[in-house]
Amino acid sequence: MSRNIVVIPGDGIGTEITAVAQNILSITAKKAGLNVDFEEVPAGGAALDVYGEPLPQATVAAVKAADAILLGAVGGPKWDAVEAKLRPEQAILGLRKALGLYANLRPIRVLETLVDYSPLKPENIRGVDILIVRELNGGIYYGEKGQEGDRAWDVENYSVPEVQRIVRTACQAAKLRRGKVTSVDKSNVLFTSRLWRKTAGEVAAEWNGIEMSHMYVDNCAMQLVLAPQSFDVIVTGNLFGDILSDEAAVITGSIGMLPSASLGDGAGLYEPIHGSAPDIAGKGIANPVGTILSAAMLLRHSLKADDAAMMIEKAVESVLEEGYRTPDLYKIGLTKVSTEEMGKLIAAKIERPQ
Ligand code: NAD
Repeated sequence: MSRNIVVIPGDGIGTEITAVAQNILSITAKKAGLNVDFEEVPAGGAALDVYGEPLPQATVAAVKAADAILLGAVGGPKWDAVEAKLRPEQAILGLRKALGLYANLRPIRVLETLVDYSPLKPENIRGVDILIVRELNGGIYYGEKGQEGDRAWDVENYSVPEVQRIVRTACQAAKLRRGKVTSVDKSNVLFTSRLWRKTAGEVAAEWNGIEMSHMYVDNCAMQLVLAPQSFDVIVTGNLFGDILSDEAAVITGSIGMLPSASLGDGAGLYEPIHGSAPDIAGKGIANPVGTILSAAMLLRHSLKADDAAMMIEKAVESVLEEGYRTPDLYKIGLTKVSTEEMGKLIAAKIERPQ
């Protein structure tokens, strides 16, 4: 059976990094004996230019029929006019809605070779391996909102089933890791958080080998900086997850390295955490590793090919250990390579692992 992977290059560096990651996916799939087909479709500014809308119907139809989606990034100054009604970023929200994506997974791993890039001390960051599971489809971003005169409101709203399904996703992920889940809320103040905490505890109790603890979001924001090594899986709502996942990403010191997965009932969407980096687009210097590691997550979560995912992750680690760096992570004494060269080095490691 062949698996259908839809690739959305998007804008800016999106085309450069998805080309590299698609090639690596193709090589890895072959090596692992998986049959995959690729289909490229437009979204974002590239789609606005040609079709007059950021998420054409044909793209929606393609992603709905896919087994998984690999996305570069969308957006850029060309489409940034304040009065513009249609914006490239609307494609992201449209994709989340079309695919019913309710769980955003962001692994934050600090590789030994990159400990010096963190703004935190190496001894505090060494070995950090966190997975943030953020609820993506509910909470204050989707609650009732409005403005009347000099008053505006956004309503936070969560139901038991919404909390249950995201906490299950977190427990399932923790089973494959160290079995520790920290549920983050603000239950000393918010009713939604009290429902969240009670429900999270009940779900975790159904999972053998899962140790759940609860933490207030303000404390979690501090602990991520003071003791990031203490976390395994963090599960939280949409707003808290948005903020904490960016905080956790920045402690690694390398935005170009980090992957993400958004999962729902159907196909998963995989993309690096960074944007379209218009300042370096077209120069061949973007770091493709975040997208390559997103491709590894695609293999793990959508194609259930854990061994293939690990082939990619090991190859990335070993190329970085050998001192190869794209310009964003270059330091004297290391070897500077382009986007394409980094892709070729990683591909070669997958084809001929030592
Ligand atoms: P950005 O992440 O694109 O760039 C921030 C900085 O990091 C820039 O200096 C950039 O050169 C650098 N950078 C990012 N990715 C890199 C990589 N792979 N290799 C090397 N350097 C890298 O954020 P921004 O500048 O705030 O946004 C640019 C555009 O991207 C905007 O239009 C924004 O709306 C869009 N954006 C899209 C997504 C998405 O598609 N999911 C996410 C965030 C931002």
